[in-house]
Amino acid sequence: MKPQLILLGAPGTGKGTQAKKIVEKLGYQHISTGDLLRSEIAKDSELGQKVKGIIDRGDLVNDQVVLELLNANCDLESTTYIFDGFPRNIEQAELLESTVLKGKSSKAIYFDIDLDILVERISNRRIAPKSGEIYNLLSRPPRVDGKCDISGEDLIHRKDDNAETVRNRLEVFKNTIAPILGYYEGRGELVTIDASKSAEDVFGLVEKTVNN
Ligand code: AMP
Repeated sequence: MKPQLILLGAPGTGKGTQAKKIVEKLGYQHISTGDLLRSEIAKDSELGQKVKGIIDRGDLVNDQVVLELLNANCDLESTTYIFDGFPRNIEQAELLESTVLKGKSSKAIYFDIDLDILVERISNRRIAPKSGEIYNLLSRPPRVDGKCDISGEDLIHRKDDNAETVRNRLEVFKNTIAPILGYYEGRGELVTIDASKSAEDVFGLVEKTVNN
């Protein structure tokens, strides 16, 4: 059985791009708490209304709220997941283990990169929600302005991908990541990857981790 994968890293380090490849090539399912929360906002559900302001500011949503959403959307008996965007703090790491993974084999992959380059990278990110393709206006622009190369759908600029919110998201990340890394290191489950390499090279490292 392949290990459950937990992707750790600041916003914009390529977790989403790698998650897409892992799904396509290694048979995993992707679960992103950010996507689940954004879909609650799109549905204008009670939960969506509650979390919208928090996400727009780049702050963290309440642990229990995110955990419930996660639990309602995954079934570990039948599926091997990539957890993307959870855990965001040490409490969530402990909750993930005690209430979701419950001793299942897992590995945490840390996408390590110089944080200073991320504000520009994320501000230029554009996303195709249906195909899941992720573009960057500077390094991977779409062939037709504003449209996905694969599906032709309109590209989205996430509301929280503006420079000011990104700075706050990075600040939140810096303040929370060390204990999470310490937690997985202590369990012997941490693998650190140089996320400044090309997407292909990073995927090679991810593949190695899964097969080891
Ligand atoms: P992401 O798509 O992972 O960048 O997440 C976007 C936003 O959703 C974050 O800036 C948080 O406001 C919220 N969010 C996503 N995952 C979590 C989580 N595990 N705990 C708390 N807030 C989260």
